[in-house]
Amino acid sequence: MNNNKAVAYNFADILAQFDIVEGEFNIKPFGSGHINDTFIIQSKNKRVGDYLLQKINRFVFKDIDGLMDNMVYVTNHLKQKIARTGDPEKEVLTLIKCHNGKYYCQDAQGEYWRMTNFLHNTKSYDLVTNTKQALQGGIAFGRFQTLLCDLQPDKLVHTIPDFLNIEYRLGNFKLAIQNDCVKRLSSVQYEVDFLLSRATNMNEILQLGKAGVLPLRITHNDTKFNNILLDQDDEIQCVIDLDTVMPGYVAYDFGDAIRSIINTAPEDEKDLNAIKLNIPLFEAFAKGYLSQTAFFLTSSELKSLMMGVVLLPYMQAVRFLTDYLEGDIYYKTHFPEHNLQRTRAQMQLLRLLEADYQNLSDIIQSQWLALKNSVKNAAA
Ligand code: ADP
Ligand code: MG
Ligand code: MG
Repeated sequence: MNNNKAVAYNFADILAQFDIVEGEFNIKPFGSGHINDTFIIQSKNKRVGDYLLQKINRFVFKDIDGLMDNMVYVTNHLKQKIARTGDPEKEVLTLIKCHNGKYYCQDAQGEYWRMTNFLHNTKSYDLVTNTKQALQGGIAFGRFQTLLCDLQPDKLVHTIPDFLNIEYRLGNFKLAIQNDCVKRLSSVQYEVDFLLSRATNMNEILQLGKAGVLPLRITHNDTKFNNILLDQDDEIQCVIDLDTVMPGYVAYDFGDAIRSIINTAPEDEKDLNAIKLNIPLFEAFAKGYLSQTAFFLTSSELKSLMMGVVLLPYMQAVRFLTDYLEGDIYYKTHFPEHNLQRTRAQMQLLRLLEADYQNLSDIIQSQWLALKNSVKNAAA
């Protein structure tokens, strides 16, 4: 989806639409994002700052106006909150306005572009390698939810409708099974049964949400580790990639971050024995996350975090197998059975998480208690 072809765009025309000081810039593809096309715009004039320019993926995001309204709404709120304690220019993305009065513009090809200040001396990692990073990841996404917990979720549009709606994903899965359009069903009956047998359990967050037990919040919904920027000391600087910030349940963000952090192997690992749980990284992330969210999470939400930890790999397995049954039309595949291999790897991760469910719940609980005790001791 993201091919970063620097030559294909008329950057002079695009940059001219933004409210920035005119000048000469070096333009290079940047980062390892998979959704948008990202470029660094380096000014040749040292007194002018650098920028991060993105072509927004209009095939993934159908409502660019709504998406950018969300981003403006959320970044304004974050800036106001952070101004009281920190440096909003460093810790929140700063959008650059266009001459059309909006925060995005269109080029002659109909592509949509937006720009933010480039945050220097930062790094994003695709993989978490130590507990300090995991702790910082937990702090980052926990703080993000906390800073937004006083905003009305219904003020935001759903930038990808039903993105983390398991009922919707299972509906698509069942259709793919029914249609069996590339005649792969008989070869994956075991995987299909494995996933369908868990369908009711995996609906719990949604049911509790519908019953009003779990409150709808504003969540990030793409809590991959490379969607935070750390400073040179591996301390959190900024949460980025705000395209999917929309109403959701807190457990979605927790579960999706854990899905990659806790897995010792890549998402598409072929050797299922190589997939193991990295418990210290789980513990560190949980500690960081709770250190920020403990004051607003309800007891039901605290309990739901583990539901998110199993739901997110499950949902990913459902989506991979759906795509396999549909003939690999959504995810990029590098070999014919790639989606099936991905499905099996997520299923294996799920098996391990199910087997260790109690232990992981206990870790969350003891982190929570430790926090409460430290607050009590500090107050005494
Ligand atoms: P995608 O949706 O394609 O993942 P992201 O918004 O995550 O796009 O951006 C891709 C990468 O660009 C990030 O992983 C990060 O490395 C880098 N990046 C994004 N915004 C900034 C910024 N304001 N300053 C510095 N680097 C950034
Ligand atoms: Mg990203
Ligand atoms: Mg993204």
